[in-house]
Amino acid sequence: MHLLSHLTTLDTLDIRFPTSAQLDGSDAMNPDPDYSTAYVILRTDDPDGHEGHGFAFTIGRGNEVQRAAIEALRHLVVGRTLDGILGDLGGFARSLTDDSQLRWLGPEKGVMHMAVGAVVNAVWDLAAKRAGKPLWQFVSEMSPEQIVALIDFRYLTDALTPDRALEILRRAEPGRAERTEHLRAVGYPAYTTSPGWLGYSDAKLARLARQAVADGFETIKIKVGRDVEEDVRRLRIARDAIGPDIGLAVDANQRWDVSEAAQWISRLAPAGLSWVEEPTSPDDILGHAAIREACPGVRISTGEHGQNRILFKQLLQAGAVDVVQIDAARVGGVNENLAILLLAAEFGVPVIPHAGGVGLCELVRHLAMLDYVAISGTMAGRSIEYVDHLHEHFRDPARVVGGRYIAPRAPGFSAEMLPATLRDHRYPDGSSWRATATSPPAAQVSAKEHENS
Ligand SMILES: [Mg+2]
Repeated sequence: MHLLSHLTTLDTLDIRFPTSAQLDGSDAMNPDPDYSTAYVILRTDDPDGHEGHGFAFTIGRGNEVQRAAIEALRHLVVGRTLDGILGDLGGFARSLTDDSQLRWLGPEKGVMHMAVGAVVNAVWDLAAKRAGKPLWQFVSEMSPEQIVALIDFRYLTDALTPDRALEILRRAEPGRAERTEHLRAVGYPAYTTSPGWLGYSDAKLARLARQAVADGFETIKIKVGRDVEEDVRRLRIARDAIGPDIGLAVDANQRWDVSEAAQWISRLAPAGLSWVEEPTSPDDILGHAAIREACPGVRISTGEHGQNRILFKQLLQAGAVDVVQIDAARVGGVNENLAILLLAAEFGVPVIPHAGGVGLCELVRHLAMLDYVAISGTMAGRSIEYVDHLHEHFRDPARVVGGRYIAPRAPGFSAEMLPATLRDHRYPDGSSWRATATSPPAAQVSAKEHENS
């Protein structure tokens, strides 16, 4: 027992990667992302020496704002006992969202809530490291009662009560050991977005789409929404490259108004779509419901920009989505994602997590896997997004083999970046930024991309 151990420091770092130079990650709404993390490290005075690492993902400018929001939580974290925090992870998460002055900046949405998510996830990283288990296993070995105690049911009970959540968890309990074994043996299905960035040439799209199939992926995703004729043409190229049996999803990244979405989707649907992602504003619950109704036979999805569990509740109550796309670093951390996973299970809607960026694959695989073991009990119709970027910066990188995520075995939540990365990618004085303090102009990048493809 370490009764007197305390959380002693909360350090933050502004970490950025110059991804806009290659248009990796480019889509209709985000033409020049520099994948970034507002990174947090929690340290303790416990002799075990474990640290908790976490981050909020951003795409460049504003990462300093995100970092400042994490700093604003310091008074709620530093000086608390480890037993107090780790003995009541539900109460800890709630204490961060309930700070009355910071709550004004949300409540439970936007930059401040993402900061809460970063800190909560860092604490989960610490807890899982101390337990000597990967996070997915650490959570899926908790009792149903312990899992329910992690969740803030405030604003949810009209759709999901603690008792009903307990029923869902108890229903999954008998098969946990068998599913853990199965997960370790065969991994979890992945789909890939690597071929489909909007900034890529036709030749690069076709080449990467063929490569994805050769690599074992059963679904690929293409970015759409800039020009409908161009989208129809690019989808034809992708479909020709992958053949009729591979899933083809599209992602509009919030580009359309509601009626425009319905018209645009009707042009794309003949390509045979697995789902249409983020057709419109992530806040527009009734808009998603209207699009879904106007496009029978086409599955509608959203969630990567879903700000909190209440929004997910309403999307499900309104019958607005066919697929829920959780993000590990958008809402208030593991606790709130458990609420969303349970809501999805209650409504019988599959979860196909959002990943990519930097570090999102590393984190969210844990959530999908614990969902399989302890909540939904199924991988059917599910897969985790995979983008083959920037994994080399992590101590416990995501590994996808034959189109499937391998279950992580290292203790923790896999958020931890390598020391050299934290040094070289620190903005603006790390070595990767000293040469070019700003992104190159878009025209210059396009010419370069053209040469490369
Ligand atoms: Mg997306």
